[in-house]
Amino acid sequence: MSVPMEHFSLGEWSDYVRGLHSQIDFEIMRKHLTTGCERCNGERSRMEQVLTFARREIELEVPEAEVNRIKQLAIFQCPEGVFAGARRICDLMFDSFREPFALGVRNASHSARQTLYSGSGYSVDVQQNAVSGGHAVRLIGQVTWKSGVGEQSAGTTVTLKAGAEVLARAVTNQFGEFQMEYVPGRRFRIVVGVGGQ
Ligand SMILES: [Zn+2]
Repeated sequence: MSVPMEHFSLGEWSDYVRGLHSQIDFEIMRKHLTTGCERCNGERSRMEQVLTFARREIELEVPEAEVNRIKQLAIFQCPEGVFAGARRICDLMFDSFREPFALGVRNASHSARQTLYSGSGYSVDVQQNAVSGGHAVRLIGQVTWKSGVGEQSAGTTVTLKAGAEVLARAVTNQFGEFQMEYVPGRRFRIVVGVGGQ
């Protein structure tokens, strides 16, 4: 048994999936994957997803690893929370980017980001996907009331706000579902229009 091997960085996995063999020790990395290292296998498949995503943007060259990483994080930002007015009403319970290999979500795609927020009264499930071309994000969500007051779920206004600015706004259907698109790049929060806001 040899000494335990070190993990490799996301940047090295980016070089690996792009076949930039001169930048990395390809064989050592390949062998490291065969040890079953979950972290590195995860990062390799994550970089493959990013590469696939980047190649879809035919007008752009495949960017460098760091650009990819930042871009990916920027495009699927984790909403700061769910608010009613200025009051935070739901906390983050799940983020597919933070727990990509949690039980049962092994197939979670890195071309989408799923987050779940929950508070005492209800929960909000949010999925973000890149709109073709990568210049906008489609956000699909569902507000679920916990106390069986389903009639409140239709016609509730849901707003994405960055500071005071409204990025997007939608109204829920009878299932509490809503859908909107926004231009990524800024931190934002989800504001649910409880009480006629
Ligand atoms: Zn490793």
